[in-house]
Amino acid sequence: MKNELRIFCPATIANISCGFDVLGVALDSVGDEMVIRKISKKGVFITTLEGQELPMETDKNVAGVAGMAFLAASDYKGGFEIEIYKKIKAGSGIGSSAASSTGAVWAMNELLDRPFTTLQLVEFAMEGEKLASGVAHADNVAPALFGGFTLVRSYEPLDIIPINTPSELVATVIHPQIEIKTSDSRKILKTNITLKDGIKQWGNLGGLVAGLFTEDYDLIGRSLEDHIVEPIRSILIPGFKEVKAGALGAGALGCGISGSGPSIFAFSKGKDTAEKVAQAMKEVYQKIGIAHDVHISKINNVGIRILK
Ligand code: ADP
Repeated sequence: MKNELRIFCPATIANISCGFDVLGVALDSVGDEMVIRKISKKGVFITTLEGQELPMETDKNVAGVAGMAFLAASDYKGGFEIEIYKKIKAGSGIGSSAASSTGAVWAMNELLDRPFTTLQLVEFAMEGEKLASGVAHADNVAPALFGGFTLVRSYEPLDIIPINTPSELVATVIHPQIEIKTSDSRKILKTNITLKDGIKQWGNLGGLVAGLFTEDYDLIGRSLEDHIVEPIRSILIPGFKEVKAGALGAGALGCGISGSGPSIFAFSKGKDTAEKVAQAMKEVYQKIGIAHDVHISKINNVGIRILK
């Protein structure tokens, strides 16, 4: 059996317009790398952290917290060392913390010959999310672990539904380099919705899930609407309306806020359209003078994977 693994931990888009707090999807070409190594000393130790300024103490890093939750449930007598090579910027809205917490527990499980199910790994990784944002949410960690699109149907009990990925679907994500605290973007949300808005939202969520399963790109596009969160949260993202209009004008099926922002995602049918969409989104931030990163990525159907 192996003693260490080098893995790719994907970035993820959570919420996906009408799927606030329940839908997520894993990306293929954006993500972190980690090395997880078995050691005889009990505990979880972060020995290397490159690419971002983040705490290395076990109890302050999501990889450490998720790893300790794994260890507490396991009868393994030893411990693990973790090396983290961050490529995803923390707080960008594409699941930076989820990449680390899922990577840790997924590799530990592989190294011990899979004592836990993927659903149990989601629960351990959620402990990391609780450290990052105060809420043990699963909408980023579920797609990172299962791959593809996932729906968190229920938290009590935890019920995660993997959803089909249409073969030609490509994501474009733009990250304007401004800071929005997850707690701030949660604070401005209303806690009540009207029945009228609820009806629109669950109509769209049902439509989106049906469109993903039947690979009906028009239906996916029609369903990528958010009448509840986007109108409020988008106020915190400069140029959001223009970026969205640019993406749709360039042929995107739909466009919305990734996670709690400030990243904005668009889905397109095919890579050529996704590239045109990226160009249109970039032009908006070039015009208003905001630094940004752009990613174009296929959907990742496997989640975390071993690197050679
Ligand atoms: P994103 O907006 O990309 O989803 P998150 O909200 O998931 O970002 O997480 C960022 C927060 O988690 C930051 O406060 C960061 O300090 C904390 N954090 C702790 N450990 C890590 C880690 N290994 N990777 C990323 N963020 C971490």
